[in-house]
Amino acid sequence: MGRVVQKYGGSSVADAESIKRVAKRVVSTKQAGNEVVVVISAMGDTTDELLDLATQVSPQPPDRELDMLLTAGERMSAALLAMAIADLGAHARSFTGSQAGVITTSAHGNARIMNITPGRIESAVDEGDIVIVAGFQGVSQDTKDVTTIGRGGSDTTAVALAAALNADACEIYTDVDGVFTADPRIAPAARRIPEISYEEMLELAACGSKILHLRCVEYARRENVPIHVRSSFSAKDGTWVKDLEDITMEHAIISGVAHDTGEAKITIVGVPDRIGEAAKIFNAVSSADVNIDMIVQNISEVETSRTDISFTVPKGDGQRAIQALQGVKEEVGFSDVLYDDRIGKVSVVGVGMRSHPGVTAKFFTALAEAEVNLEMISTSEIRISVVVDTDDVPRAVRAAHTAFGLDADGEAVVYAGTGR
Ligand code: ASP
Ligand code: MG
Repeated sequence: MGRVVQKYGGSSVADAESIKRVAKRVVSTKQAGNEVVVVISAMGDTTDELLDLATQVSPQPPDRELDMLLTAGERMSAALLAMAIADLGAHARSFTGSQAGVITTSAHGNARIMNITPGRIESAVDEGDIVIVAGFQGVSQDTKDVTTIGRGGSDTTAVALAAALNADACEIYTDVDGVFTADPRIAPAARRIPEISYEEMLELAACGSKILHLRCVEYARRENVPIHVRSSFSAKDGTWVKDLEDITMEHAIISGVAHDTGEAKITIVGVPDRIGEAAKIFNAVSSADVNIDMIVQNISEVETSRTDISFTVPKGDGQRAIQALQGVKEEVGFSDVLYDDRIGKVSVVGVGMRSHPGVTAKFFTALAEAEVNLEMISTSEIRISVVVDTDDVPRAVRAAHTAFGLDADGEAVVYAGTGR
Protein backbone atom coordinates (compact mmCIF):
# COMPACT_ATOMS: atom_id res chain seq x y z
CA MET A 1 0.00 0.00 0.00
CA GLY A 2 1.22 3.45 -0.86
CA ARG A 3 0.55 6.89 0.41
CA VAL A 4 0.00 9.57 -2.22
CA VAL A 5 -0.69 13.26 -2.18
CA GLN A 6 -2.58 14.40 -5.28
CA LYS A 7 -3.01 18.03 -6.20
CA TYR A 8 -5.63 19.19 -8.70
CA GLY A 9 -5.37 22.67 -10.20
CA GLY A 10 -8.14 25.13 -10.97
CA SER A 11 -8.66 24.00 -14.57
CA SER A 12 -9.16 20.38 -13.40
CA VAL A 13 -12.04 21.44 -11.11
CA ALA A 14 -13.51 24.24 -13.20
CA ASP A 15 -17.16 23.10 -12.95
CA ALA A 16 -19.44 20.47 -11.41
CA GLU A 17 -18.70 17.94 -14.15
CA SER A 18 -14.94 18.28 -13.69
CA ILE A 19 -15.27 17.94 -9.94
CA LYS A 20 -17.15 14.66 -10.42
CA ARG A 21 -14.46 13.46 -12.82
CA VAL A 22 -11.73 14.25 -10.28
CA ALA A 23 -13.78 12.51 -7.56
CA LYS A 24 -13.78 9.32 -9.66
CA ARG A 25 -10.06 9.48 -10.08
CA VAL A 26 -9.46 10.03 -6.37
CA VAL A 27 -11.76 7.16 -5.43
CA SER A 28 -10.10 4.77 -7.86
CA THR A 29 -6.68 5.66 -6.41
CA LYS A 30 -8.07 4.83 -2.98
CA GLN A 31 -9.66 1.61 -4.23
CA ALA A 32 -6.32 0.55 -5.67
CA GLY A 33 -5.19 0.30 -2.04
CA ASN A 34 -3.58 3.68 -1.43
CA GLU A 35 -3.93 6.21 1.33
CA VAL A 36 -4.97 9.39 -0.45
CA VAL A 37 -4.59 13.03 0.54
CA VAL A 38 -5.86 15.53 -2.02
CA VAL A 39 -4.86 19.18 -2.23
CA ILE A 40 -7.22 21.30 -4.24
CA SER A 41 -7.11 24.72 -5.95
CA ALA A 42 -10.01 27.10 -6.40
CA MET A 43 -12.36 26.36 -9.32
CA GLY A 44 -11.23 27.76 -12.70
CA ASP A 45 -10.45 31.47 -12.49
CA THR A 46 -12.15 31.93 -9.10
CA THR A 47 -9.11 33.51 -7.46
CA ASP A 48 -8.89 36.17 -10.18
CA GLU A 49 -12.61 36.79 -9.97
CA LEU A 50 -12.46 37.24 -6.20
CA LEU A 51 -9.56 39.66 -6.64
CA ASP A 52 -11.56 41.66 -9.20
CA LEU A 53 -14.51 41.73 -6.82
CA ALA A 54 -12.34 42.97 -3.96
CA THR A 55 -11.02 45.90 -5.98
CA GLN A 56 -14.57 46.81 -6.95
CA VAL A 57 -15.50 47.39 -3.32
CA SER A 58 -12.17 48.93 -2.35
CA PRO A 59 -9.26 50.03 -4.57
CA GLN A 60 -6.79 48.96 -1.89
CA PRO A 61 -8.32 46.17 0.18
CA PRO A 62 -6.62 45.39 3.53
CA ASP A 63 -4.24 42.41 3.15
CA ARG A 64 -5.79 40.48 6.00
CA GLU A 65 -9.29 40.67 4.53
CA LEU A 66 -8.03 39.85 1.04
CA ASP A 67 -6.63 36.59 2.42
CA MET A 68 -9.92 35.83 4.19
CA LEU A 69 -11.65 36.31 0.83
CA LEU A 70 -9.22 34.40 -1.41
CA THR A 71 -8.97 31.35 0.87
CA ALA A 72 -12.72 30.90 0.40
CA GLY A 73 -12.06 29.79 -3.21
CA GLU A 74 -10.12 26.69 -2.16
CA ARG A 75 -12.51 25.99 0.69
CA MET A 76 -15.41 25.83 -1.79
CA SER A 77 -13.75 23.34 -4.09
CA ALA A 78 -12.54 21.20 -1.15
CA ALA A 79 -16.07 20.86 0.21
CA LEU A 80 -17.55 20.24 -3.25
CA LEU A 81 -15.02 17.51 -3.98
CA ALA A 82 -15.74 15.84 -0.63
CA MET A 83 -19.46 15.85 -1.53
CA ALA A 84 -18.82 14.35 -4.97
CA ILE A 85 -16.69 11.62 -3.37
CA ALA A 86 -19.40 10.88 -0.79
CA ASP A 87 -21.83 10.51 -3.67
CA LEU A 88 -19.62 7.73 -5.05
CA GLY A 89 -19.98 5.89 -1.76
CA ALA A 90 -16.51 6.62 -0.37
CA HIS A 91 -15.62 8.54 2.79
CA ALA A 92 -13.97 11.92 2.41
CA ARG A 93 -13.36 14.80 4.79
CA SER A 94 -12.34 18.31 3.76
CA PHE A 95 -10.09 20.59 5.80
CA THR A 96 -9.03 24.21 5.51
CA GLY A 97 -5.28 24.87 5.48
CA SER A 98 -5.44 25.93 9.08
CA GLN A 99 -7.27 22.76 10.15
CA ALA A 100 -4.73 20.72 8.23
CA GLY A 101 -1.95 22.23 10.35
CA VAL A 102 -0.31 24.38 7.68
CA ILE A 103 1.60 26.92 9.77
CA THR A 104 2.97 29.96 7.93
CA THR A 105 4.67 33.30 8.44
CA SER A 106 2.37 36.29 8.77
CA ALA A 107 3.08 38.01 5.42
CA HIS A 108 -0.42 38.18 3.95
CA GLY A 109 -0.57 37.35 0.25
CA ASN A 110 2.90 35.86 0.27
CA ALA A 111 3.33 33.87 3.46
CA ARG A 112 5.81 31.02 3.69
CA ILE A 113 5.01 27.58 5.03
CA MET A 114 7.16 27.15 8.16
CA ASN A 115 5.86 23.88 9.48
CA ILE A 116 3.07 21.37 9.09
CA THR A 117 1.46 19.69 12.07
CA PRO A 118 -0.65 17.08 10.27
CA GLY A 119 -2.23 15.46 13.35
CA ARG A 120 -5.83 15.72 12.16
CA ILE A 121 -4.90 14.56 8.67
CA GLU A 122 -2.98 11.57 10.02
CA SER A 123 -5.90 10.43 12.12
CA ALA A 124 -8.42 10.88 9.30
CA VAL A 125 -6.14 8.83 7.02
CA ASP A 126 -5.74 6.17 9.73
CA GLU A 127 -9.51 5.94 9.99
CA GLY A 128 -9.59 5.11 6.29
CA ASP A 129 -10.89 8.43 5.00
CA ILE A 130 -9.86 10.27 1.88
CA VAL A 131 -8.56 13.65 3.04
CA ILE A 132 -9.11 16.84 1.04
CA VAL A 133 -7.07 19.90 1.96
CA ALA A 134 -7.74 23.42 0.69
CA GLY A 135 -4.49 24.50 -0.98
CA PHE A 136 -2.77 27.89 -1.10
CA GLN A 137 -3.50 28.76 2.55
CA GLY A 138 -2.43 28.36 6.11
CA VAL A 139 -2.51 30.09 9.43
CA SER A 140 0.08 32.50 10.76
CA GLN A 141 2.06 31.26 13.72
CA ASP A 142 2.10 34.63 15.50
CA THR A 143 -1.10 36.43 14.48
CA LYS A 144 -3.26 33.29 14.11
CA ASP A 145 -4.78 34.95 11.05
CA VAL A 146 -5.53 33.09 7.85
CA THR A 147 -2.84 33.59 5.19
CA THR A 148 -2.26 32.80 1.52
CA ILE A 149 1.11 31.65 0.25
CA GLY A 150 1.37 33.37 -3.16
CA ARG A 151 -0.38 32.83 -6.50
CA GLY A 152 -0.13 29.25 -7.70
CA GLY A 153 0.68 28.19 -4.15
CA SER A 154 -1.39 25.00 -3.99
CA ASP A 155 1.51 23.14 -5.58
CA THR A 156 3.62 24.11 -2.57
CA THR A 157 0.89 23.02 -0.15
CA ALA A 158 0.90 19.61 -1.85
CA VAL A 159 4.67 19.14 -1.68
CA ALA A 160 4.83 20.35 1.92
CA LEU A 161 2.10 17.90 2.91
CA ALA A 162 3.78 15.08 1.00
CA ALA A 163 6.97 15.78 2.96
CA ALA A 164 5.19 16.04 6.32
CA LEU A 165 3.18 12.85 5.71
CA ASN A 166 6.15 10.96 4.31
CA ALA A 167 4.19 10.19 1.14
CA ASP A 168 5.66 7.98 -1.57
CA ALA A 169 4.96 10.61 -4.21
CA CYS A 170 3.32 13.91 -4.85
CA GLU A 171 1.19 13.93 -7.98
CA ILE A 172 0.41 17.34 -9.43
CA TYR A 173 -2.51 17.18 -11.85
CA THR A 174 -2.81 19.88 -14.46
CA ASP A 175 -4.27 20.56 -17.91
CA VAL A 176 -1.29 19.34 -19.95
CA ASP A 177 0.48 15.97 -20.03
CA GLY A 178 3.44 17.14 -17.95
CA VAL A 179 6.38 19.49 -18.26
CA PHE A 180 7.07 20.30 -21.90
CA THR A 181 10.22 21.30 -23.71
CA ALA A 182 8.49 24.66 -24.35
CA ASP A 183 5.02 26.10 -23.82
CA PRO A 184 2.87 24.07 -26.26
CA ARG A 185 0.62 27.10 -26.65
CA ILE A 186 3.35 28.88 -28.60
CA ALA A 187 5.54 25.98 -29.70
CA PRO A 188 3.19 23.25 -30.99
CA ALA A 189 6.16 20.92 -31.61
CA ALA A 190 6.91 20.85 -27.87
CA ARG A 191 7.42 17.43 -26.29
CA ARG A 192 6.75 16.03 -22.86
CA ILE A 193 9.90 15.64 -20.75
CA PRO A 194 9.72 12.22 -19.02
CA GLU A 195 12.20 13.07 -16.23
CA ILE A 196 13.81 16.33 -15.16
CA SER A 197 16.08 17.31 -12.27
CA TYR A 198 15.04 19.69 -9.50
CA GLU A 199 17.68 22.21 -10.53
CA GLU A 200 16.51 22.36 -14.16
CA MET A 201 12.90 22.64 -13.03
CA LEU A 202 13.91 25.48 -10.70
CA GLU A 203 15.52 27.39 -13.58
CA LEU A 204 12.52 26.78 -15.85
CA ALA A 205 10.11 27.95 -13.15
CA ALA A 206 12.22 31.04 -12.47
CA CYS A 207 12.29 31.80 -16.21
CA GLY A 208 8.56 31.87 -16.73
CA SER A 209 7.47 28.24 -17.03
CA LYS A 210 4.13 28.31 -15.23
CA ILE A 211 3.75 24.60 -14.78
CA LEU A 212 5.08 24.45 -11.21
CA HIS A 213 5.37 27.14 -8.58
CA LEU A 214 9.01 28.07 -7.88
CA ARG A 215 8.67 27.61 -4.13
CA CYS A 216 7.12 24.21 -4.63
CA VAL A 217 10.21 23.01 -6.50
CA GLU A 218 12.51 24.54 -3.88
CA TYR A 219 10.57 22.74 -1.19
CA ALA A 220 10.61 19.44 -3.08
CA ARG A 221 14.35 19.66 -3.63
CA ARG A 222 15.04 20.48 0.02
CA GLU A 223 12.85 17.65 1.29
CA ASN A 224 13.66 15.31 -1.61
CA VAL A 225 10.00 14.75 -2.54
CA PRO A 226 9.61 13.28 -6.05
CA ILE A 227 6.90 15.12 -8.01
CA HIS A 228 4.86 13.55 -10.79
CA VAL A 229 3.32 16.29 -12.97
CA ARG A 230 0.54 14.81 -15.09
CA SER A 231 -2.79 15.49 -16.74
CA SER A 232 -6.09 15.00 -14.97
CA PHE A 233 -7.65 14.58 -18.41
CA SER A 234 -5.73 11.43 -19.36
CA ALA A 235 -4.18 8.38 -17.73
CA LYS A 236 -0.78 8.93 -19.35
CA ASP A 237 2.48 9.17 -17.47
CA GLY A 238 3.62 12.74 -17.09
CA THR A 239 6.93 14.22 -15.96
CA TRP A 240 8.90 13.09 -12.91
CA VAL A 241 10.80 15.87 -11.18
CA LYS A 242 13.51 14.37 -9.02
CA ASP A 243 17.10 14.38 -7.94
CA LEU A 244 19.57 14.42 -10.85
CA GLU A 245 21.19 11.27 -9.46
CA ASP A 246 17.91 9.37 -9.64
CA ILE A 247 17.41 10.14 -13.32
CA THR A 248 17.92 7.03 -15.37
CA MET A 249 17.24 8.24 -18.90
CA GLU A 250 19.85 9.73 -21.12
CA HIS A 251 19.86 13.47 -20.78
CA ALA A 252 19.47 15.92 -23.66
CA ILE A 253 21.93 18.85 -23.62
CA ILE A 254 19.05 21.27 -23.39
CA SER A 255 15.99 20.14 -21.45
CA GLY A 256 13.70 22.99 -22.34
CA VAL A 257 13.07 26.52 -23.55
CA ALA A 258 11.18 28.89 -21.25
CA HIS A 259 9.78 32.33 -21.92
CA ASP A 260 8.50 35.14 -19.77
CA THR A 261 6.67 38.27 -20.87
CA GLY A 262 6.07 39.49 -17.33
CA GLU A 263 9.11 41.76 -17.07
CA ALA A 264 9.89 45.30 -18.14
CA LYS A 265 13.21 46.99 -18.92
CA ILE A 266 14.37 50.16 -17.22
CA THR A 267 17.27 52.14 -18.71
CA ILE A 268 19.07 54.86 -16.82
CA VAL A 269 20.68 57.15 -19.35
CA GLY A 270 23.92 59.07 -18.84
CA VAL A 271 25.18 57.75 -15.53
CA PRO A 272 28.50 59.45 -14.59
CA ASP A 273 31.33 56.89 -14.91
CA ARG A 274 32.41 57.12 -11.26
CA ILE A 275 32.86 54.58 -8.46
CA GLY A 276 29.71 54.14 -6.36
CA GLU A 277 27.07 55.39 -8.83
CA ALA A 278 25.68 51.91 -9.57
CA ALA A 279 25.53 51.24 -5.84
CA LYS A 280 23.42 54.37 -5.29
CA ILE A 281 21.07 53.43 -8.11
CA PHE A 282 20.48 49.87 -6.96
CA ASN A 283 20.16 50.91 -3.31
CA ALA A 284 17.31 53.19 -4.37
CA VAL A 285 15.63 50.36 -6.30
CA SER A 286 16.09 47.89 -3.46
CA SER A 287 14.66 50.25 -0.84
CA ALA A 288 11.50 50.33 -2.98
CA ASP A 289 11.45 46.53 -2.47
CA VAL A 290 11.83 45.78 -6.18
CA ASN A 291 13.52 42.58 -7.32
CA ILE A 292 16.00 42.95 -10.17
CA ASP A 293 16.64 40.28 -12.74
CA MET A 294 19.07 40.99 -15.62
CA ILE A 295 21.48 43.95 -15.69
CA VAL A 296 23.68 45.39 -18.44
CA GLN A 297 25.93 48.43 -18.51
CA ASN A 298 26.95 50.08 -21.78
CA ILE A 299 28.90 53.09 -22.94
CA SER A 300 26.26 55.80 -23.25
CA GLU A 301 25.00 56.37 -26.76
CA VAL A 302 24.29 60.00 -26.08
CA GLU A 303 26.98 61.33 -23.79
CA THR A 304 30.72 60.78 -23.47
CA SER A 305 32.37 59.45 -20.28
CA ARG A 306 28.97 58.31 -19.17
CA THR A 307 27.28 54.92 -19.16
CA ASP A 308 23.77 53.62 -19.63
CA ILE A 309 22.55 51.00 -17.18
CA SER A 310 19.60 48.76 -18.10
CA PHE A 311 17.90 46.17 -15.93
CA THR A 312 14.69 44.19 -15.87
CA VAL A 313 12.06 44.08 -13.13
CA PRO A 314 8.63 42.43 -12.83
CA LYS A 315 6.12 44.62 -14.71
CA GLY A 316 4.05 45.09 -11.56
CA ASP A 317 7.06 46.72 -9.82
CA GLY A 318 8.02 49.00 -12.73
CA GLN A 319 6.32 52.19 -11.58
CA ARG A 320 7.66 51.84 -8.03
CA ALA A 321 11.18 51.42 -9.38
CA ILE A 322 10.84 54.50 -11.62
CA GLN A 323 9.61 56.63 -8.73
CA ALA A 324 12.49 55.51 -6.52
CA LEU A 325 14.95 56.36 -9.32
CA GLN A 326 13.46 59.81 -9.90
CA GLY A 327 14.15 60.43 -6.22
CA VAL A 328 17.94 59.98 -6.66
CA LYS A 329 18.26 61.64 -10.09
CA GLU A 330 19.92 64.83 -8.77
CA GLU A 331 22.21 63.01 -6.37
CA VAL A 332 23.49 60.50 -8.96
CA GLY A 333 23.40 63.00 -11.79
CA PHE A 334 22.06 60.83 -14.60
CA SER A 335 20.04 62.43 -17.36
CA ASP A 336 16.97 60.25 -17.88
CA VAL A 337 15.06 57.09 -16.98
CA LEU A 338 13.37 55.09 -19.77
CA TYR A 339 10.76 52.40 -19.33
CA ASP A 340 10.05 49.65 -21.87
CA ASP A 341 7.51 46.93 -21.15
CA ARG A 342 7.45 45.53 -24.67
CA ILE A 343 10.11 42.95 -23.93
CA GLY A 344 10.23 39.22 -23.29
CA LYS A 345 12.83 36.86 -21.90
CA VAL A 346 13.68 33.60 -23.63
CA SER A 347 15.85 31.05 -21.82
CA VAL A 348 17.38 27.68 -22.66
CA VAL A 349 17.97 25.39 -19.68
CA GLY A 350 19.90 22.14 -19.36
CA VAL A 351 22.47 20.47 -17.11
CA GLY A 352 24.19 19.21 -20.27
CA MET A 353 25.49 22.75 -20.77
CA ARG A 354 28.09 22.13 -18.06
CA SER A 355 29.91 19.60 -20.16
CA HIS A 356 29.08 20.60 -23.75
CA PRO A 357 30.76 23.60 -25.35
CA GLY A 358 29.03 25.55 -28.11
CA VAL A 359 25.56 25.85 -26.58
CA THR A 360 25.67 29.65 -26.57
CA ALA A 361 26.91 29.76 -30.16
CA LYS A 362 24.12 27.45 -31.29
CA PHE A 363 21.45 29.43 -29.43
CA PHE A 364 22.60 32.79 -30.78
CA THR A 365 22.97 31.44 -34.33
CA ALA A 366 19.39 30.16 -34.23
CA LEU A 367 18.18 33.54 -33.01
CA ALA A 368 20.14 35.36 -35.70
CA GLU A 369 18.71 33.13 -38.42
CA ALA A 370 15.23 33.86 -37.08
CA GLU A 371 16.14 37.58 -37.27
CA VAL A 372 15.71 38.16 -33.57
CA ASN A 373 17.63 41.05 -32.05
CA LEU A 374 19.14 40.48 -28.57
CA GLU A 375 18.79 43.34 -26.11
CA MET A 376 20.29 41.71 -23.02
CA ILE A 377 22.03 38.46 -22.11
CA SER A 378 22.55 36.63 -18.83
CA THR A 379 23.69 33.14 -17.88
CA SER A 380 23.92 30.69 -15.02
CA GLU A 381 25.75 27.38 -14.95
CA ILE A 382 22.80 25.61 -16.59
CA ARG A 383 20.90 28.46 -18.30
CA ILE A 384 21.27 31.13 -21.00
CA SER A 385 18.66 33.90 -21.13
CA VAL A 386 18.15 36.71 -23.63
CA VAL A 387 15.81 39.68 -23.64
CA VAL A 388 14.10 40.37 -26.97
CA ASP A 389 11.19 42.41 -28.32
CA THR A 390 7.79 41.00 -27.16
CA ASP A 391 6.73 40.34 -30.75
CA ASP A 392 9.81 38.19 -31.33
CA VAL A 393 9.25 35.87 -28.35
CA PRO A 394 7.28 33.09 -30.10
CA ARG A 395 9.71 33.08 -33.02
CA ALA A 396 12.70 32.97 -30.71
CA VAL A 397 11.24 30.10 -28.67
CA ARG A 398 10.49 28.05 -31.78
CA ALA A 399 13.91 28.74 -33.30
CA ALA A 400 15.75 27.62 -30.15
CA HIS A 401 13.49 24.60 -29.80
CA THR A 402 14.27 23.45 -33.33
CA ALA A 403 17.99 24.22 -33.08
CA PHE A 404 18.44 22.01 -30.01
CA GLY A 405 16.61 19.12 -31.67
CA LEU A 406 13.64 19.25 -29.33
CA ASP A 407 10.85 19.27 -31.95
CA ALA A 408 8.38 16.38 -31.84
CA ASP A 409 6.61 14.88 -34.82
CA GLY A 410 3.06 15.45 -33.62
CA GLU A 411 1.37 18.38 -31.93
CA ALA A 412 1.14 18.68 -28.15
CA VAL A 413 -2.30 18.41 -26.55
CA VAL A 414 -3.64 21.23 -24.39
CA TYR A 415 -6.74 19.91 -22.64
CA ALA A 416 -8.19 22.97 -20.93
CA GLY A 417 -7.47 26.16 -19.10
CA THR A 418 -6.68 29.66 -20.16
CA GLY A 419 -3.08 29.57 -18.98
CA ARG A 420 -4.10 32.61 -16.93
N1 ASP B 1 -6.02 29.52 -6.49
C1 ASP B 1 -4.71 30.07 -6.29
C2 ASP B 1 -4.29 30.82 -7.54
O1 ASP B 1 -5.04 30.92 -8.48
C3 ASP B 1 -3.70 29.05 -5.90
C4 ASP B 1 -3.47 27.95 -6.90
O2 ASP B 1 -4.23 27.77 -7.85
O3 ASP B 1 -2.48 27.22 -6.74
O4 ASP B 1 -3.22 31.36 -7.56
MG1 MG C 1 -1.09 26.27 -10.71
